[in-house]
Amino acid sequence: MALQCPACEQPALTVTASRELGPDERSDERSLQVVRCGVCGFGAIAFYEESRRGAGESFHHDGYYAPAEVVDALEKALAGGGVDDQEGILYDAGGARYSSFPIRFLPD
Ligand SMILES: [Zn+2]
Repeated sequence: MALQCPACEQPALTVTASRELGPDERSDERSLQVVRCGVCGFGAIAFYEESRRGAGESFHHDGYYAPAEVVDALEKALAGGGVDDQEGILYDAGGARYSSFPIRFLPD
């Protein structure tokens, strides 16, 4: 299965770094990723989400444009560099926590 680059449209986009974040209220699998194109060098942040609940399987795989330095920093963090997985939550060497959280609406 090839992933198409949104910049040059070639089937050369690959996931170069990925971290599973564990399940949440909606999905069984969630991964924060960096994707890059082997032809033109395009890079972006991506999020993969898969659910096996209810009627059948469904997944979403979306890319997000971001400044090159942000993509580079995330790729480095996800690839290792002092980051440890603990129960699907990411911690860096300083103990800072990287995971996701639901944004809750509170009425005024
Ligand atoms: Zn490309």
